[in-house]
Amino acid sequence: SSLDWQAIHAELTGIETITDPQQLTKLSLDYYHFSPILQPQLADKRADLVVRPVNEAQVQQVAQVCVRHKIPLTVRGAGTGNYGQCIPLMGGIVLDTTRMNQILWIKEGVAAVEVGVKMAAFDKQARLQGWELRMYPSTYRTATLGGFIGGGSGGIGSINYGQLRDRGNVYGARVVTLEDHPRILTLRGDEVQQINHAYGTNGIITQLEIPLAPAYPWAEVIVTFGDFLTAARFGQALSDGDGLVKKLVTVCADPIGGYLTALQEFIPPGQSCALLMVAESSLDPLEALVKDYGGTITYQKRAQEAQKGTSLAEFTWNHTTLHARAVDPSLTYLQTFYFDLERVAAMYEQFGDEVMIHLEFLRVAGRAIPAGLQLVRYTTPERLGAIIECHEAQGCAIANPHTYILEDGGRKVIDPLQLAFKEQVDPYGLLNPGKMRAWGEKFDRK
Ligand code: FAD
Repeated sequence: SSLDWQAIHAELTGIETITDPQQLTKLSLDYYHFSPILQPQLADKRADLVVRPVNEAQVQQVAQVCVRHKIPLTVRGAGTGNYGQCIPLMGGIVLDTTRMNQILWIKEGVAAVEVGVKMAAFDKQARLQGWELRMYPSTYRTATLGGFIGGGSGGIGSINYGQLRDRGNVYGARVVTLEDHPRILTLRGDEVQQINHAYGTNGIITQLEIPLAPAYPWAEVIVTFGDFLTAARFGQALSDGDGLVKKLVTVCADPIGGYLTALQEFIPPGQSCALLMVAESSLDPLEALVKDYGGTITYQKRAQEAQKGTSLAEFTWNHTTLHARAVDPSLTYLQTFYFDLERVAAMYEQFGDEVMIHLEFLRVAGRAIPAGLQLVRYTTPERLGAIIECHEAQGCAIANPHTYILEDGGRKVIDPLQLAFKEQVDPYGLLNPGKMRAWGEKFDRK
């Protein structure tokens, strides 16, 4: 490109930079390959340079250099996103946040962190004080809090607290801008919605203030059922059971259990299964509920034991897809709000083995609802599109994981708040260019 990289390097003095081609490849990509649609669109995208600042002052320095030279800047946490959120479409600099990983403080129900802290590492500290994250993705061992807010949606714990987008699930953020003179802004309360799930298109978050949940000793349980719809009804009943303290309610239709290789002995062929995290003190009432639905408990670990090995959480949410694709790479997935079990049953009936149903129960506006991360036997883009349309025609809402465009995934509409904030803090359109449709339509005239 026409950029003067020698001058740029000189201006980045003091900041760790990476130019090794193999490292650039690794640090430019994410888990976009779960989508056969995104694979060819993103495989060859690369940053020219990766920087690893250690503090906010260095972030500001990088922002200044990018504005001065008009270099695209894409923020990256651990790079575990599934839609190419952190893949730089137009090259430039990737800013890796993983060295900004300090926990600033943990108080009663609230904490402040630097964005690069890994969620598992955070929880380990918070639990010493009796607290934990309200929700985390199944990638919590490697994923950063900044990346979760920037590109994630919810996960283990969402059965109690809903999704990141729900008011009250992020309290505050500090953000570095890409103006001529980069500033540091403090956003609080509803203001955080400007940068919440914005793919880093409108500011570099450096610190977050987040609410916490009381930490229970979480037992892990697998229950099997001869029939999927019974398993689904059990999942709904557990989710609705106000007296049962839980953190994770996953239900997988047969034959998904067969893809979870490490759990083979606990999920016999032909069985549908529920993978659960419940408070140890709720194990007795859980057993009674399992009996009501005719299930069989095949696996049960108390919290202390569960903490030693791989958590069941790492077989749920999009880890189910990861394990299934390890066995059969031709599989892909969808993200679906069914809203109720009638729709689950209708889709189960209609698509059979082509769309294998994996349910995650979560709270939406106070109600526990079944959402799906279904495994799809992929054939063609047309067929995938038809499957999506058919779900939507019957009242399901699909958060399409086969697009890297912010608005085309979950929300479907442009967010005027996020666009207005981008106009203010990123007037040159340098942050993660090509991801926000609203900006492209307004400014990137051809
Ligand atoms: P990255 O992928 O690095 O970044 C995500 C987005 O946030 C990018 O657009 C990036 O530009 C932006 N970003 C990162 N840091 C900042 C910052 N400091 N300021 C501004 N923007 C920033 N997601 C879920 O929500 N729930 C799940 O249960 C879940 N399960 C998953 C399972 C598997 C196997 C995989 C591969 C992915 C899963 N994901 C899930 C997606 C992803 O792992 C999570 O959303 C994770 O929290 C992303 O964190 P990260 O650090 O890897 O972010």
